[in-house]
Amino acid sequence: MTPTALNQPALVETVVSYAGMFAILGFIALVIILVFKMERIKDLQAELGKLRRAYNELDNQAKLIVQTDLELHRAQEELDKKVSGLVTLQELTRMISTTLDEEEIFKKIEEKHITALGFDKAAAFTKNPSDDGYSVRIALGYSLDDAGKVMRLLVTHPLIIDKVLEKNKIFASTDTDKAGKEIPRLLALMAVSSFVCAPIMLKNGAIGALLLGSESSYTPLTEGDKDLVYILATQIGEALENAKLYEETWHSHQELEHKIQQRTKELSAALEEIKVISKRKSDFISAVSHELRTPLTSIKGYASIVAAGKLGELPQAAKERIEKINTHSDSLSDLINNLLDISRIESGRVEMKFEPLNIRAMAEALGDMLAPPLKERNLEFVIDIPAPGPTARGDKIQIERVFINLVGNALKFTPAGGKITVRAVQRDDGMVHITVSDTGIGIAEKDIEKVFEEFYRVDNEMNQKVKGTGLGLSLVKYIVEAHKGKITVTSALNKGTSFTFTLPKA
Ligand code: ADP
Repeated sequence: MTPTALNQPALVETVVSYAGMFAILGFIALVIILVFKMERIKDLQAELGKLRRAYNELDNQAKLIVQTDLELHRAQEELDKKVSGLVTLQELTRMISTTLDEEEIFKKIEEKHITALGFDKAAAFTKNPSDDGYSVRIALGYSLDDAGKVMRLLVTHPLIIDKVLEKNKIFASTDTDKAGKEIPRLLALMAVSSFVCAPIMLKNGAIGALLLGSESSYTPLTEGDKDLVYILATQIGEALENAKLYEETWHSHQELEHKIQQRTKELSAALEEIKVISKRKSDFISAVSHELRTPLTSIKGYASIVAAGKLGELPQAAKERIEKINTHSDSLSDLINNLLDISRIESGRVEMKFEPLNIRAMAEALGDMLAPPLKERNLEFVIDIPAPGPTARGDKIQIERVFINLVGNALKFTPAGGKITVRAVQRDDGMVHITVSDTGIGIAEKDIEKVFEEFYRVDNEMNQKVKGTGLGLSLVKYIVEAHKGKITVTSALNKGTSFTFTLPKA
């Protein structure tokens, strides 16, 4: 027996058992591989799911991008339209806001503007000032007749009356229409496929409306369109308000001018009357003064005869009384002479002899003449006029009186130790300005303007002591004015007073 022959069944068994083992191992391996594959498939499926979701997301985003792009495009178009509308609006605003005539404001709005605003038709109407009716102010794309029909339709339509004319709001064909039929009816009657109606407002509310319509149904009405119409209507309202104000101002100006003319006439008449009265007053003063002068001269004459002892020696007491009669007669005579002078100058009866006057020389002569009283009162007299000094044109005698009065007053109202100064200078106004100032008692603010009035004397201690008539400054003013000059006064209590008068240069 060979080992091979001997072990064959065992070999087969072994082979079979090995084969079985291998088969089992193989099966196990297969199962393991399958399990792994299944896991892989699951993973792949999960991946695929993720990919699908990502794809869907991408797809959605792509759709969104396309949609956004479309919307952007539309927005761009609308923006362009808005910009062009705004440019037109700005141009229109500039034109109408500089117009002050109501008719002209509406005439400035033309068809090209309406087109640029994105519309085809326009109508505007405003309330008549005289009645309750309305008038067509703009008819573009409509005949005047048709615009009239549209206007009558709008002003009687409850929707327009309520929203536009009463609540001052905008009304558009895109607004919700409760009734459902009204807007299509309005559109049909206006022959448009969309419209915007905005109030034309003055300060007190709507006085009319502006209607802009579009025939094409391809261009839908936007909020921007509504805004443009609203702004345009507001601008028209403002321009109308300005025009109204201008007209009112013009009317009140006319009225004022008329009143001024009337008042001027009345004042001229009053002035004439005053002149007549003034002349009568002058005549009266002149007549009375003359009448007084004659008896006064004889009183003085008789008093002198008696005083001279021509009628026998007088007792001392009688002499003193006669002296008083003389002094008082002199004062009365001065007063009468001043009054006569004023009335003569005022009525132009004094003939002025104009000649060149050297003001410095005149002041020096005055200083010489007043040297004794100045010395007696211990007053310094200063002539602050550099030689040769200005030359004025005037009547020597009259200007001397002005100087005597002004310096005389300074002398009276300046306490001992004070100073009186005369200045003169020629100014660019062609006048010589002469100032007499002192360091005296001054004049209170309340009295300062009155000192030129006839018979006005300030109520002060000094005036109770010194004599005076209150006519000196009135006379001075008349003389200066007769020379076409002016006199002014400035003063400070207890510091001093300055009188400045002007005379034409020679
Ligand atoms: P009169 O000197 O006779 O009183 P005027 O007409 O000359 O009359 O002056 C009117 C008044 O103005 C004076 O009474 C005086 O009170 C006031 N006045 C005039 N000049 C001066 C002056 N230089 N300083 C203070 N007061 C003055």
